[in-house]
Amino acid sequence: MKVTKDKVVSMHYTLKNDTGDVIDSSEGKETMDFLQGHGNIIPGLETALEGSKKGDKVEVSIEPEEGYGLKMDDAIQEIPRTALQGIDEVTIGMQLQSQDQDGNPFVVTVIKLDDEKITVDANHPLAGETLHFSVSIEDVRDALEEEVSHGHAHSAGGHSH
Ligand code: ZN
Repeated sequence: MKVTKDKVVSMHYTLKNDTGDVIDSSEGKETMDFLQGHGNIIPGLETALEGSKKGDKVEVSIEPEEGYGLKMDDAIQEIPRTALQGIDEVTIGMQLQSQDQDGNPFVVTVIKLDDEKITVDANHPLAGETLHFSVSIEDVRDALEEEVSHGHAHSAGGHSH
């Protein structure tokens, strides 16, 4: 069975940046499962894995445009400190959870602060990076109807939403 739209893929992966540092890896953890064709993973990786099958090893380098995007200046914003009630101490480099208009969570990083305001950067930490993936395809299966309608893979033990 090949990786095509509406297949659930289980993979192991290692992600390196341009200098060869490992940024992320599933090694020693559970496989990462995703539903192909639904934007569960970055576009460049979805394209690279299309048509591969169980047992395949895929090595691919992905430009920022097909990865986490380019760094955007307007993703850097100043917010008043009063907007951060409930957080005792804010430090540079700290990551804060925020929400977009649709209520989807995203993480911003504090890059500057003074007594009144805090400057946060909502760029994905990997924005602007070329991503080097080593993927091994562990399994490919048909998605359940429920998974297709939800637009994501469900784990073997079922789930609760
Ligand atoms: Zn679901």
